[in-house]
Amino acid sequence: MTVDPTPTASHFIDGAYVEDQDGAPIDIVYSATGETLGRVHSATPAIVERALASASAAQAAWAAMTGMERGRILRRAADIIRDRNRDLSILETYDTGKPLQETLVADATSGADALEYFGGMAATLTGEYIPQPNGDFAYTIRQPLGLCVGIGAWNYPTQIACWKAAPALACGNTMVFKPSETTPLCALKVAEILTEAGAPPGVFNVVQGRGDVGASLVDDARVAKVSLTGSVPTGRKIYAAAAAGMKHVTMELGGKSPLIVFDDADLDNAVSGAILGNFYSTGQVCSNGTRVFVQTGIKQRFLDRLCERLSHARIGDPLDESTSFGPMASERQLDIVQEYIRTGLEEGARLAYGGKRLNRPGFYIEPTVFADVTDDMTIAREEIFGPVLSLLDFEDEEEVLERANATEFGLAGGVFTNDLTRAHRVVARLEAGTCYINTYNLAPVEAPFGGVKASGVGRENSKEAIAHYSEVKTVHVAMNGVEAPF
Ligand code: NDP
Repeated sequence: MTVDPTPTASHFIDGAYVEDQDGAPIDIVYSATGETLGRVHSATPAIVERALASASAAQAAWAAMTGMERGRILRRAADIIRDRNRDLSILETYDTGKPLQETLVADATSGADALEYFGGMAATLTGEYIPQPNGDFAYTIRQPLGLCVGIGAWNYPTQIACWKAAPALACGNTMVFKPSETTPLCALKVAEILTEAGAPPGVFNVVQGRGDVGASLVDDARVAKVSLTGSVPTGRKIYAAAAAGMKHVTMELGGKSPLIVFDDADLDNAVSGAILGNFYSTGQVCSNGTRVFVQTGIKQRFLDRLCERLSHARIGDPLDESTSFGPMASERQLDIVQEYIRTGLEEGARLAYGGKRLNRPGFYIEPTVFADVTDDMTIAREEIFGPVLSLLDFEDEEEVLERANATEFGLAGGVFTNDLTRAHRVVARLEAGTCYINTYNLAPVEAPFGGVKASGVGRENSKEAIAHYSEVKTVHVAMNGVEAPF
């Protein structure tokens, strides 16, 4: 079956596709060729209002359903996604340019995992019984927050929509989701599938648009919570806007995470970790370990092995399943990455591999490795969000920990060593929300995911996410008379 990447309409509101050509056009550009696949239109204020009104109206009835009923719908949506994994993966590839080899296993499947996990959890969201003296007691009720807004980045459009929708809907909230304007396609499919699975109209809505549309959603008084996946600067703006309305937030933001390789590490595993943590999804992963600190004793062997392994990357048509490295998601992001490569060279880093744009249509850049990078260089301090690995040398554990933590970010961190005591000692001191020992970049739905410091607020996935999409009401019950002072 061939997949038509053109969407039925720009938005999905109140259980149906909606078009409104009054909104500014947004071209859907396939980053592997640069060709325009179609266009959607940015949401006008009228469309934003329709979406918010629909989500607001749907919320009470959705929350009144039992957790069993809501969960069944989410799990049915997970089953539909799994049945259609290939088509949804092809769509994800059109949306992002990521190789089908990746999207078949990492995107729709991850979204289905979230819907299945939180679907299963929906019926378990109960309160507590709290005994008090003389038979009095209190109890708690876990309640939804209400209308939630989800705003996504462009690197994992299906996964981000599902990671936000699944816990929100499981708790009885409704959602208006705005994908990045770079990747407008996949969230619409998530909405369509949730509706097919039985979600009532208004429970999950999608509107297109740029930051201004996102901002108008965040500012609306009916919105109880905002969950953003995006950059730190956008996170600061949205967090501030949400604070004005005393709204809950989840902020999944950027990083510049350290990956520390000690002399005694298994060399091939450490190189594999560095590849996963820098070049998967063409480096467009928030938790990437882009500062690779390598102890001096293993440095040259690590670099040689890394460059040798990179020569086996198959760069090309992302729809060809043998391709293992695709284009950047947009020309804008390609320009940003090229600018960082120029800056790295200007500031004296040694280009050890790649660095050039490919001479072919589409937004391709080679996997790139800089060696002899120092902590003060721009490429070691700022998030590049592309396939650029910086190799930094270190001598000892105390020194590397201090340097690894000397950043405003705190999303992830990893350590490769065969000394298990040291591994646990190091991750205990890494200032990061998610740590890896002898592996890198796993994000299963059962485990919490998120950052500390400027990299985020709150956690996605796991039982932890429930706390971020619900609140607890306490009820005190007297079984005796009421004592008053007069
Ligand atoms: P941006 O921060 O530029 O945008 C994120 C989203 O916010 C987009 O949908 C954007 O719309 C929207 N937006 C922008 N300005 C506003 C505003 N003032 N109010 C409301 N919404 C707004 O991030 P990118 O899309 O460029 O994504 C890359 C970033 O995302 C990286 O920093 C990366 O680290 C981070 N990220 C974090 C992850 C995590 O889980 N921690 C996972 C994946 C990515 P538009 O794009 O249409 O302008």
